[in-house]
Amino acid sequence: MATVKKPSKYVYSFGGGKADGNESMKNLLGGKGANLAEMAGHPKLRLPVPPGFTVTTEVCTWYYANKKAYPKVLNQQLKDAMMQMEKLMGKKFGDVKNPLLVSVRSGARSSMPGMMETVLNVGLNEETIKGIIAQSGDARFAYDAYRRLIMMYADVVMEKAGGIEPKGGKGIRKVLDEKLEKLKHKKSYQSDTDLTVDELKALVKEFKATVVKVLGKTFPEDPYEQLWGSIGAVFSSWMGKRAIEYRRIEKIPDEWGTAVNVQAMVFGNMGDDSCTGVAFTRNPGNGEDKFYGEYLVNAQGEDVVAGIRTPAPVNEYSKNAQSEHYDTLEKLMPSLYKELYGYQQKLEKHYKDMQDIEFTIEKGKLFMLQCRVGKRNGVAAVRMATEMYKAKQIDANTAILRVSPNQLVELLLPMLDPKAEITQPVIAKGLPAGPGGAKGRAVFTSEDAVAWAAKGEKVILVREETSPEDVDGMHKAQAILTTKGGMTSHAALVARGWGKCCIVGCSDIEIHVNSKMFHAKNGVVIKEGDWISLNGTKGLVYEGSLPLVDIDIEKNQSYKDLMKLVDKTKQIGVRANAETPADAAVASKFGAEGIGLFRTEHMFYGEGSEEPLFLLRKMIVSKTEKERREALNALFVYVKKDVKDTLAVMNGHPVTIRLLDPPLHEFVPHDTEKLQELSKELGIRMSVLKRRVLALHENNPMLGHRGVRLGISYPEITEMQIRAIFEATVELIRKGKKALPEIMIPVVCGKHELRHQKDIVEQVYKETCEKMKVKKIPYLYGTMIEIPRAALKANSLAMEADFFSFGTNDLTQMSFGFSRDDIGGFLPKYLDLKLLPYDPFQTIDQSGVGELIKIGVERGRVTKPNLKIGICGEHGGDPDSVVFCHKIGMNYVSCSPFRVPIARLAAAHAALEFPRK
Ligand code: PEP
Ligand code: MG
Repeated sequence: MATVKKPSKYVYSFGGGKADGNESMKNLLGGKGANLAEMAGHPKLRLPVPPGFTVTTEVCTWYYANKKAYPKVLNQQLKDAMMQMEKLMGKKFGDVKNPLLVSVRSGARSSMPGMMETVLNVGLNEETIKGIIAQSGDARFAYDAYRRLIMMYADVVMEKAGGIEPKGGKGIRKVLDEKLEKLKHKKSYQSDTDLTVDELKALVKEFKATVVKVLGKTFPEDPYEQLWGSIGAVFSSWMGKRAIEYRRIEKIPDEWGTAVNVQAMVFGNMGDDSCTGVAFTRNPGNGEDKFYGEYLVNAQGEDVVAGIRTPAPVNEYSKNAQSEHYDTLEKLMPSLYKELYGYQQKLEKHYKDMQDIEFTIEKGKLFMLQCRVGKRNGVAAVRMATEMYKAKQIDANTAILRVSPNQLVELLLPMLDPKAEITQPVIAKGLPAGPGGAKGRAVFTSEDAVAWAAKGEKVILVREETSPEDVDGMHKAQAILTTKGGMTSHAALVARGWGKCCIVGCSDIEIHVNSKMFHAKNGVVIKEGDWISLNGTKGLVYEGSLPLVDIDIEKNQSYKDLMKLVDKTKQIGVRANAETPADAAVASKFGAEGIGLFRTEHMFYGEGSEEPLFLLRKMIVSKTEKERREALNALFVYVKKDVKDTLAVMNGHPVTIRLLDPPLHEFVPHDTEKLQELSKELGIRMSVLKRRVLALHENNPMLGHRGVRLGISYPEITEMQIRAIFEATVELIRKGKKALPEIMIPVVCGKHELRHQKDIVEQVYKETCEKMKVKKIPYLYGTMIEIPRAALKANSLAMEADFFSFGTNDLTQMSFGFSRDDIGGFLPKYLDLKLLPYDPFQTIDQSGVGELIKIGVERGRVTKPNLKIGICGEHGGDPDSVVFCHKIGMNYVSCSPFRVPIARLAAAHAALEFPRK
């Protein structure tokens, strides 16, 4: 027997304690439709939701696949749903005596606030208005609703969905709005509510005539024509420019489509016993478990959103400076407030998450119009997640997944007060290299930063770019702003390491170094000493001194609770990149389980570096090995102390000490004055010194005489460093402390380089054991993988290494051939044109560089199945990259101390989403 296929169900009703759909059907009904069904129909809720129906997202897809037509069965299904609604309301759509009016709203799977269209009061015409006047007893209200319908319909359905280009860029809504404003002005009225019935009646007439004149079509009187027009307009708005752009940013696929919700109108603007409001089951600003919301008496929902009138607080808790003199809903309508309070409690308990709800009170009766998971900031997210977990509302895994790693940034750094930011114009935009906020007086050289800071001034260092010579000034500055450079440029790297606010690649400003000032593109001129403020999280520059809001993480119990759960869950270690004992202490405080990268060269920059830097320079310009050894012997003391102090702070946690990496020319001065000083100090003639410095010059220093190549040219440099590491370790252990150094060789591209250096390490090991009379010194020997060839040759490298650490800064630079210091010049264009989806120096390029990393991991472990593998490039603190490292089986990630908590949380997310066996 042939089976007859049941036609698809395209319309889902809700209301009267029942619903066809439920919350789990978001893909079909959209977020709004699914939640309306849940609120109306779930046996534990059954809240007073105005009845209605949802036209599914499948219809939207069908509509676009079929030249904007509808499935045949839709008409009948819609009429049936309308009849059901009419029954529940005791009213009829289009009826003259007892008319039903409806709202038509969009609702996609995930919320796209303000991106799509809405039409209210559908069903009103010259006839039904009589019924509305009779029902409400308020002709003024009825005509006001009518003029709102004409305005919205003409704008949304007739003009936008009709594809009419507004003449001279002025849309019909604006034309009609001007008529309304002109009338109010003529009568000297303050508010729309001052208009009389007759004036509104005349306005409606004028609106209709204007619509014909401007759009060449009449406003439709037939309620069903209005309804279908509105549904079509919502579907059309899915493909509107705004909506498409929003989807691109939020990565929402076009195929999802939107649903349309048709719902009985309820009116918050039917007089002083009516109101409309928005509320949250907890405070979305700080996460406190207190009901929080605002409402407007005698108003429609759109009035709250438009911000024309200051809303009143629903309760005492919700009062703020602007609303403290208004009556609360709790005071004005106590029993209705109590009812609303009960519903919000029920909703949160049911959804097990903070809800954002919309409600309307029509003539003393409460209706629930919407609920959805509420948006929140980082501070609130952490507090809500941990408090709900403690109250056993959610489990540990849910609590962890409720906070996104990037939200943690807000907890860790001071930021510009968001309230102040809204009031200020942005004078320039750059790349957000170091998050958080800062304010200070503009200075243009590192020396000035140091000098001003010494006088107790807060400064922001503004430079075209920074170099190691600027480190002192950078350290003293509150923040750094550069016009050049990318996310891993010197300025970005250093600032992030310190948790300092920093904006790089800010080409909107032009610096005039000699006159110590800069010009912003918009004409603002900032001179030395003028205050500026930076939002490093977004890359925004402001003129003047904006207030900062500070957060002390140690005092945040919710944060501590969350991180406890995180550490129990994650399956990959998190270490920090730290160069000084102070950095190491910060890293420990943030929960680092070791140091993944200790860049030895940092002892030659900044405070206290004069003596070691002098000795290093002496070593660099030495002519003979003997001279070099003398200088190295003197330097040894400093290196040993530096290493020892850091090992001591980490007390047995591994510390990966990388041997000297930068090309030597970076350490010698190049200007004559400084060279003269050096020549005097070293007792070398100027001409000789110049020749030696010149000999260090390289055309391509990033690919030049650096990393392991230095240790091969000058084995005595490696020897001195290894000796310092071993002696420091023995001395600590003798004192009863724990120490675990991991010696790491940079810029390696083959096994023989590693073997060469290993011979030195083994020789010095033997000598140190003998000298210090010990049998064993704990250490590991390993390599960085930061050259593509090293990744490809990982199987042979693993023969000589106990561990690998991926240096993804250089690996990205050498894979793409993009200079990490200069990418800022063209990256914005690449991102604009979508030639790159994101900055590959910030997030690992998984399909390219990521392939090399995978090859490195796989091949390394073919040779040594238990090879310890980590990452120490800047990517180690990027949440997406952490997930990648977890997935490919690394043992740990290492990142700037301030990013350690972010990496820990990202690692826990990775463990929950992609659990390892
Ligand atoms: C790297 O290249 O990823 C790395 C960590 O080393 P550096 O940034 O010091 O070159
Ligand atoms: Mg490197």
